[in-house]
Amino acid sequence: MANKEIPYKIYLNESEMPKYWYNLRADMKNKPAPLLNPGTGKPMTAEELGGVFCEDLVKQELDNDTREYPVPQEILDFYKMYRPSPLVRAYCLEKKLNTPAKIYYKFEGNNTSGSHKLNSAIAQAYYAKKQGLKGVTTETGAGQWGTALSMACAYFDLDCKVFMVKVSYEQKPFRREVMRVYGADVTPSPSMTTQIGQKILAEHPGTTGSLGCAISEAVEVAVGTEGYRYVLGSVLNQVLLHQSVIGVETKIAMDKYGIKPDVIIGCAGGGSNLGGLIAPFMGEKLRGEADYRIVAVEPASCPSLTRGVYAYDFADTGMVCPLAKMYTLGSDFIPAPNHAGGLRYHGMSPILSQLYDDGMMEAVSVPQTRVFDAAETFARTEGILPAPESSHAICAAIDEAIKCKETGEEKTILFGLTGTGYFDLVAYQKYHDGQMDDYVPTDEELKQFRARLPKV
Ligand SMILES: *Cc1c(COP(=O)(O)O)cnc(C)c1O
Repeated sequence: MANKEIPYKIYLNESEMPKYWYNLRADMKNKPAPLLNPGTGKPMTAEELGGVFCEDLVKQELDNDTREYPVPQEILDFYKMYRPSPLVRAYCLEKKLNTPAKIYYKFEGNNTSGSHKLNSAIAQAYYAKKQGLKGVTTETGAGQWGTALSMACAYFDLDCKVFMVKVSYEQKPFRREVMRVYGADVTPSPSMTTQIGQKILAEHPGTTGSLGCAISEAVEVAVGTEGYRYVLGSVLNQVLLHQSVIGVETKIAMDKYGIKPDVIIGCAGGGSNLGGLIAPFMGEKLRGEADYRIVAVEPASCPSLTRGVYAYDFADTGMVCPLAKMYTLGSDFIPAPNHAGGLRYHGMSPILSQLYDDGMMEAVSVPQTRVFDAAETFARTEGILPAPESSHAICAAIDEAIKCKETGEEKTILFGLTGTGYFDLVAYQKYHDGQMDDYVPTDEELKQFRARLPKV
């Protein structure tokens, strides 16, 4: 197998496509900590979660044992529009860097929403429809999740109410318009349409918003509206389960040609693309069958793994959601207006948090201008205009490749290219005009938010 000629871009044939999602938790000895009810301090029951989330998704959320979940046929049918995603050898980038390293990226931006988020959006919309619901509410930061969910809801004929972080709503009017093409109702957050929005605006007039605020608003509306549930685009165990399709496809493609990555790199906001990409590789690592270096890359302005604490915290600013044990900066931490909107979340997936705490993976943080340097190098060599979020992974992959040049090692580097940056051109403009800053929170600032973590 290994000496088969390797194509520039590896796609899978229909018969090779994964038919299941892989639940990494089944192979974790130390399971991720359960969500807690903030009122009682006890683990959330399926019944309690069922008030907020769809039934089948609650089962997936709480299931630490089932290794493989068959993907429902309706979802496999939807995948035919945009999957498999290509696994690409970055020959031109390697040449530009003059590195002996082999660089591969799995490109998830080949759909209208422009990111991997469609993988979980379609699954969550499917289960909402299956339950006979009327619609779903959600938040969106940079707009990718809202766009993905709008597409998925349009496909299954569900209502979709999106609370969009205000800074993105203003910076990315065209994202909002794409959501409206797919029939979504989009409100800038914080808004005066919810109680929590009114409270946040009274306390922080002029705030540009955060994912945490928008989550609180979306949950308030879901819980208060008949036939609606809330859906979330990252962080949750169920989302990592759906995103495992990225990793399972990658693993099948690499195994087919006898390629073994030495280092696997992904950007980490709430952790879903990284959790999905690494899933089958981490599974092998957990079972002692293989070893990989796994690296999470986060913005220096929102460094939850590298500078946060591992503790129970609220998932949202309004403190209405269950408590999750995760690496966190504190639920009321509102990061500087970094342009990688999808990475501006105060916490990290409980699954990845546990794996990081167990020393199974590493994390690095990178300043914004270095990320855009990497983004441009990539655009000019590989052609694709990358999303700022994805460019965090590009930046770390380039750093690894340059290290290989210095040591002469021919490592194989795999990274997740999560999406495209067509809606991020205001950010690219700021970068070109020298108006981009590299704000990094001080220890003092971080301490202040940490002091307000809930006591459990
Ligand atoms: C949302 C997003 C991310 C970060 O979210 P994760 O849940 O950490 O994957 C990364 N890249 C893109 C393009 C995104 O839209």
